[in-house]
Amino acid sequence: MEIISHLIDGERITSSQTTLNVYNPATGDVIRRVEAGTVNTVQQAIESARKALPGWQKTPAMKRARVMFKFKQLLEEHQNVVATLISEEHGKTIEDALGEIQRGLENIEYACGAPEVLKGEYSRGTGPGINAWSEHKPVGIVAGITPFNFPAMVPLWMYPLAIVCGNCFILKPSEKVPTSTLFIAELLNKAGLPKGVLNVVNGSKEVVNALIEAPEVKAMSFVGSTPVAEYIYTEGTKRGKRVQALGGAKNHAIVMPDADVDSTVNALMGAAYGSCGERCMAISVAVCVGDDVADGLVAKLTPRINELRVGAYTQHNVDMGPVIAKEHLEKIAGYVESGIDSGAQLVVDGREFSVPEHANGYFMGGCLFDHVTPDMKIYTDEIFGPVLCVVRVKTLEEGIQLINVHEYGNGSCIFTGDGEAADIFCDEVEAGMVGVNIPLPVPVAYHSFGGWKRSLFGDLHAYGPDGVRFYTRRKQITQRWPKSTTSESAQFAFPSSH
Ligand code: NAD
Repeated sequence: MEIISHLIDGERITSSQTTLNVYNPATGDVIRRVEAGTVNTVQQAIESARKALPGWQKTPAMKRARVMFKFKQLLEEHQNVVATLISEEHGKTIEDALGEIQRGLENIEYACGAPEVLKGEYSRGTGPGINAWSEHKPVGIVAGITPFNFPAMVPLWMYPLAIVCGNCFILKPSEKVPTSTLFIAELLNKAGLPKGVLNVVNGSKEVVNALIEAPEVKAMSFVGSTPVAEYIYTEGTKRGKRVQALGGAKNHAIVMPDADVDSTVNALMGAAYGSCGERCMAISVAVCVGDDVADGLVAKLTPRINELRVGAYTQHNVDMGPVIAKEHLEKIAGYVESGIDSGAQLVVDGREFSVPEHANGYFMGGCLFDHVTPDMKIYTDEIFGPVLCVVRVKTLEEGIQLINVHEYGNGSCIFTGDGEAADIFCDEVEAGMVGVNIPLPVPVAYHSFGGWKRSLFGDLHAYGPDGVRFYTRRKQITQRWPKSTTSESAQFAFPSSH
């Protein structure tokens, strides 16, 4: 069976004693195994990055960017192969996999502009014969730890930008979906990246802990669940590292009485059930303003959910695939049970759904709950599955208040035809990414991505301008070249332009 190795110093390295199963969630079969890296593997990666760092930092930004231009071209050429690898291990449809690759490509495009975004600021004549300027210096060795749900896009949020900023990067991909991530990393090496600038160490917790412990790792970008995000942020910052840790979500959509019902239903179908609800920007709560809105929405959503085409990525015309793992399927079913027990009305029950050709796949149909209240676990917790909860409120203000007291604040959106309601919502809602009649307001690559509250630990969002700030340190230089200093006496007062 194929074993997915590490990528260290430009080579595939097989170094660990242990390997982990990689499944095809559509069949339940073990299709590959992946190396479980150890402290030693991390040390090898650090050593490789340490050797590469001085040369890479000194490489002109334009030359670093040229490697990214080539990388973009190679990824575009190989995107169908990569999409198949993603779908095979994650379960999402090929179309969905191509969508995340496209988003990843846009992050590479942004990184291609490094010479422009790394330009500093210059002030001439800040004092007699004195000029001052700022520079963006790399941080050093940076680590990235990524989740299973976007094997291509989330790593590409991180390392292209970190690398063009002059850093060396160690990536620890999700052990559930390692193959496409490694394939893409190898394309960057083929694009001409010097060896050691990007290393990939596969595995799980042990690798992450070794990266946290290593003093050579100066910064960590994490994307995954909130408990792990908080752990990495706490342990990393305690050791003096710069950390941005993006966590889980419970994204609400407010539906106003004047919303266009058909387009709202279309938007909710894609946002709640696309990728089987396994997106950190998935809409999992529809907050209906008024009972009429809720009744109308539920009536229109119900047949659409029953008609969802669920199947394997290899089948045609599929809307959503399986969930990632058997345990995850059971966890989601447990949440559905708890929703029934706590008194919510299960309008559509997808638990018994199966795909005849793939009896052992981790499939379920879409679920819809109505009359959900904020005390229920199906409301408070991130389920990360195809389950949409309808909560009924009386006013927009009540809806905003509901969102604002929830522990997560990743994305949030409103469906309305009323500009004033939209304006109030944008101003008052406590979420990092807000949509108006846009269900998944994922920022484009030249803005930055991040939530509020317990959806993000750290100060800076991912990619875009915040990404540049995260992956660089600012240096401010003040310089004078006096013609002669002999006529000057020592100055003991604090220097000023006075
Ligand atoms: P996860 O937290 O289980 O795993 C993420 C990464 O952390 C993996 O590489 C994993 O190996 C590692 N990890 C897991 N447990 C660990 C531990 N105890 N100590 C150290 N490292 C550990 O997340 P997941 O299940 O892969 O991904 C789904 C989660 O990610 C959801 O909560 C989702 O909302 C979140 N997510 C958030 C964003 C965002 O931008 N906010 C984007 C995508 C996914």
